[in-house]
Amino acid sequence: ALSVPDKQVDSVCPYCGVGCQLTYNVKDNKILFVEGRDGPANQSRLCVKGRYGFDYAHHPHRLTKPLIRRAGMPKTGDFTMDPDRVLEVFREATWEEALALAGGKLATIRDTHGGNALAGFGSAKGSNEEAYLFQKLVRTGFGTNNVDHCTRLCHASSVSALLEGIGSGAVSNPVMDVTRAEVIVIIGANPTVNHPVAATWIKNAVRTGAKLILLDPRRSELARHAHRYLQFKPDTDVALLNAMMHVIVTEKLVDEAFIASRTIGYEQLEANVAEYSPEAMAPICGIDAETIRYVARLYATSKGSMILWGMGVSQHVHGTDNARCLIALALMTGQIGRPGTGLHPLRGQNNVQGASDAGLIPMMLPDYQRVDNPVARARFEAAWGATLDPKPGLTVVEIMDAIDHGQIKGMYIMGENPAMSDPDANHARASLAALEHLVVQDIFLTETAYLADVILPASAFPEKTGTFTNTDRLVQLGRQAIEPPGDAKQDLWIIQQIANRLGLPWNYGHVSEVFDEMRHTMASIGGITWDRLEKNGAVVYPCVNEGDVGQPVVFTELFPREGGKARFVPADIIPADERPDAEYPLILITGRQLEHWHTGSMTRRASVLDAIEPDPVALVHPLDMERMGITPGAPITIASRRGEVVLYARADDSSPVGAIFVPFCYYEAAINRLTNAALDPFGKIPEFKYCAIKVTPG
Ligand code: SF4
Repeated sequence: ALSVPDKQVDSVCPYCGVGCQLTYNVKDNKILFVEGRDGPANQSRLCVKGRYGFDYAHHPHRLTKPLIRRAGMPKTGDFTMDPDRVLEVFREATWEEALALAGGKLATIRDTHGGNALAGFGSAKGSNEEAYLFQKLVRTGFGTNNVDHCTRLCHASSVSALLEGIGSGAVSNPVMDVTRAEVIVIIGANPTVNHPVAATWIKNAVRTGAKLILLDPRRSELARHAHRYLQFKPDTDVALLNAMMHVIVTEKLVDEAFIASRTIGYEQLEANVAEYSPEAMAPICGIDAETIRYVARLYATSKGSMILWGMGVSQHVHGTDNARCLIALALMTGQIGRPGTGLHPLRGQNNVQGASDAGLIPMMLPDYQRVDNPVARARFEAAWGATLDPKPGLTVVEIMDAIDHGQIKGMYIMGENPAMSDPDANHARASLAALEHLVVQDIFLTETAYLADVILPASAFPEKTGTFTNTDRLVQLGRQAIEPPGDAKQDLWIIQQIANRLGLPWNYGHVSEVFDEMRHTMASIGGITWDRLEKNGAVVYPCVNEGDVGQPVVFTELFPREGGKARFVPADIIPADERPDAEYPLILITGRQLEHWHTGSMTRRASVLDAIEPDPVALVHPLDMERMGITPGAPITIASRRGEVVLYARADDSSPVGAIFVPFCYYEAAINRLTNAALDPFGKIPEFKYCAIKVTPG
């Protein structure tokens, strides 16, 4: 019977950072269905994406042959969802021809203009091994550090604050630790939608007595489970968090012994929060002083308080300051370094942690070794047999600007879709179109691939084997279940072919050879062997030696900073870059929705998920709808100073009055055409969570 699988393959979910383990049930090279498996992060649970979001791999839009742009075809328009018209713009080519053109032109640009005329975007959807090889290719083959990926758009500010404050950008405690916490603080995150299985652990914890404090301008589903929900005004995180710290300081709820023995810089923090009394901040953040006092006391005095946050914190021009405040809260109360405490920035994509660890970022070599540190650089130069550029490279948005200035002329993009995901996407698309040479490696003709000169058909998640690191620092094995369609190839093979054409004599046979090289250059995973992964499926890092069991909870004795001490960094209020005004009186907040993942290239081609949420929607408060004469379900136009889109209005009172929420997954209403590319100065993350818009019916 059709429904009886002929094989079962254990793997992990391709979507969010929770990293649920699952089993593919396969027949005749097709995935029939997926079941949850008893992994450390999910214990057999799956959400709707994990359970139903797999048939994208069999979608007829899959790229099955290399494509080369036809001579003279302009880089405008968009037939990404119309495969019949794709061949008007591109012609099919052999792998040999496509690779010769892709690699040859990248080499010519490098040789003519220098390595810094090139850049690469890798992907948090790819494996650790793909991320590692991709950044190694850019650094040693292109000769530049201009390599980045979507971490820049999600938690770069959090990581910047964490590295500065506690010496490590990863989480201190796993999500599951919520079940050991007395108080759980969630700020700027909507786990029910974005980390659904993690949300179930949070609800379980509440059921067994934990108190959930939810801080968010948008009321998420978790508000129903919260002990207190504080709907603070958008963009006022620092005011609220500094007011909480003011209470903790003035009411002497600080952990003096922890501060004295394990931190530096407390005096500056204490002086800074003196001005931020709850009474002074209440009108700014919209939360009454007594409530601020109550939640501050609760957080500080519990036996174990844990903070989890998401992009509501990070995607601001003050994202790093927001995270600095969260770190300071944990440090001043000693709520870190024990089970059921700590700091957990919820990672978005399934491998954004691992891709960052592997060095897919412009200022860091693998394992967060700075490129401008001569000792670290020398170590990688010896390991890789290459000379490395000591100058940190450009970040995602900076690369688009550098294309405008003629500085960057060629790019290689693997698995990312900046034409949809970058802020001010009209500008990003114009920049990509202006490149002399763009090579895109993907499984679908994404909006970015449409602007390419050469498109290389790659493998989908169930078509390859590799390791993926979840939000808890768990390195997990994803196993190949099916073969890629047509002439599509494994991503690791494609990266190596490009490397060969840039003069690198790479010849990794099996993905485990790449992993082995990684663990010998990255101390944090030095003890994780491929055999161990095959046997256990998952190992948490730090895991330095082969006998180590790994450390789910870190910072128990020392912080990985100079002297082993964490550092307080005070923050003051910095307003959003673009405030509402008479012409653009509303606020736009962008994000994700449960059924669709990021730019939608996979989930919108997953039949069940697409059936549940098929059309672009904007969530508008009913009072705003009434005021603007908008009917639920009717089309509306949303415009900012950078562009406009048309989508459908959905009445939703979870957003505050005056703020419109729009998911960024819909190509036909690509909301990032409207967002602001203003950057946080430290993490270089754009301000996706706040820009000025106007809305009109129709
Ligand atoms: Fe996949 Fe995340 Fe859902 Fe788990 S919670 S099934 S990892 S999308």
